[in-house]
Amino acid sequence: MKTIPHKIYLSENEMPRQYYNLRADMPKKPAPMLHPKTLKPVVAADLTPVFCKELVRQELDDTTRYFNIPREIRDFYKIFRPSPLIRAYGLENELNTPAKIYYKFEGNNTSGSHKLNSAAAQVYYARAEGVAALTTETGAGQWGTALAEACAHFGMPLTVYMVQGSYEQKPFRKTIMRTFGAEIIASPSNTTNIGREMLKKFPGTSGSLGCAISEAVEKAVSSENTRYVLGSVLNQVLLHQSIIGLEAEAAFNKIGDYPDVIVGCAGGGSNLGGLIAPFMRDKLLGRKDIDIVAVEPKSCPSLTRGQFTYDFCDTGHLTPLAKMYTLGSEFIPARDHAGGLRYHGMSPIVSQLYADGQLRAEAYKQTEVFEAATLFARVEQILPAPESAHAIKGAIEIAKKCRDNNQSKTILFGLSGTGNFDLSAYEQFQNGKMVDIIPTDADIARSLKTLPKV
Ligand SMILES: *Cc1c(COP(=O)(O)O)cnc(C)c1O
Repeated sequence: MKTIPHKIYLSENEMPRQYYNLRADMPKKPAPMLHPKTLKPVVAADLTPVFCKELVRQELDDTTRYFNIPREIRDFYKIFRPSPLIRAYGLENELNTPAKIYYKFEGNNTSGSHKLNSAAAQVYYARAEGVAALTTETGAGQWGTALAEACAHFGMPLTVYMVQGSYEQKPFRKTIMRTFGAEIIASPSNTTNIGREMLKKFPGTSGSLGCAISEAVEKAVSSENTRYVLGSVLNQVLLHQSIIGLEAEAAFNKIGDYPDVIVGCAGGGSNLGGLIAPFMRDKLLGRKDIDIVAVEPKSCPSLTRGQFTYDFCDTGHLTPLAKMYTLGSEFIPARDHAGGLRYHGMSPIVSQLYADGQLRAEAYKQTEVFEAATLFARVEQILPAPESAHAIKGAIEIAKKCRDNNQSKTILFGLSGTGNFDLSAYEQFQNGKMVDIIPTDADIARSLKTLPKV
C-alpha cells in the first residue's frame, strides 16, 4: 500500500505566485455593489476615499483570472506559509470511516488564523501607495490581531475598533494587538458620530460588528490620508484568501488525490471562498463534480435562514450595499463563542454560488460544535478555533455517512485557526454552562424589515 505522509508541505518554490479570481470563471457574476445614497452601481471613484487604489481595482475586477502576488507579500508569506495540508489519520481512526480526511491548517501564526493572508496584502498595497494610517474593526479579535501583525511588518500605524463585548471578554487579544503596535478603541466609542449616537440610543450595549465597521469607516474618511481595511466579505479578501485553495490544490497534485467533498466554516465567507476557489473553478468548468459545504452557526444563520438581497454591510449604513444572503444589518446575534461567524451578511461571491446551487449550507448549534472540537483536539492534537470547529463538525457528519454507506470519499476541510484564545469558551462548554440560543423566525423577520428598498 502506498503510504501518504501525515503532512503535505510545499517547498518555497512551489508556493503560488498569483492569486486566483474565481469571479472570472463564474457564469453568473456577483451583483455589483450599490452606492448607499444613489443606489447606482459603485465605480472606482466611490470607493477610493475608503480603500487604496489597487484594492479598489481588485474589488471591482470580475474578469481578470490571475493577479501577481508582489514579491514583498510572498516574502512575508514565507514566514508562516505554506500552511500544511494534514491527513487526519487520528480522526479517521476515531470515526472508523473509510473516508480519507484532510484539513488545511491556517493557524500557524501568532494571530492564529487565515486572516493574516489578506491582512498582509491589504497593508502592503496601502503602504506601496503611501497611505499614512489604517483603521479597521474587529469582532472576536482575530482580524485586528492579524492586521496589527501585518502593520508591524510593513510599518503602518493602525487603529482598531473592537466590539465592546470582545474588548471585555478577550483582554489577551488587546495585549497582542498592542504588542504589535496597534491602538485599540472599544466600540461603540465617543470618537465618532455613529459611536456617540449608538451610545446614546443603547447605553451599556455590548456593541456589534456592524457598528464597529461604521466607526472605522467614519474615522478613515474623516482623517488625513487614512484608509479602511476589512477582513472578510469583500471580493478582494476572497481573492487574497485563494492562496489557501491554490496551496491545497498543489499539495493534492503532489499526492495524486483530489477532494470529493470540501467543507468550510462561513462567517463572512473568506476562508471558505479562498479554500474552494480553484476547486470551484474545476466544478464550474465541468471538470469535476465536488460537493461543497458551507457550515454556519445556528445562532447566526445567514445562508440557511437569511434572504438573498441587497443590504448594508454595516449598522451605520455608510458602506455600499451588497447583494448577499443577509439577516438584516440590524441583526444582533446572541453572544455565541464563534465570534468570527457572527456577521449578518455573507460574501457576495459565496452568496451567488449558493443561490446558483453550486454549494450547499448547513447550520449547527454551538454545543454540538464544541463536542466536535473536543473530539478533534484529542485525536489530532490541535485545539481548534470555535469558528473552525463548525467545519470539523460538518466534516465529521460527512465522514460518518461515508462509514454508514461504506464510501471512501476524499474529504477536505478548512481548519481556519486555533482556539488558544478561546479557552473561556471551552471552559464554559466543559462546565455545562454553554447554551444554544437560536433566533426565532420572528427575530429574523424583525431584522429583515430593516432591509433597504432597492
Ligand atoms: C474570522 C474567522 C472566521 C470567519 O471568517 P470568514 O471570513 O468566514 O472566513 C473563521 N475562522 C477563524 C479562525 C476566524 O478567525
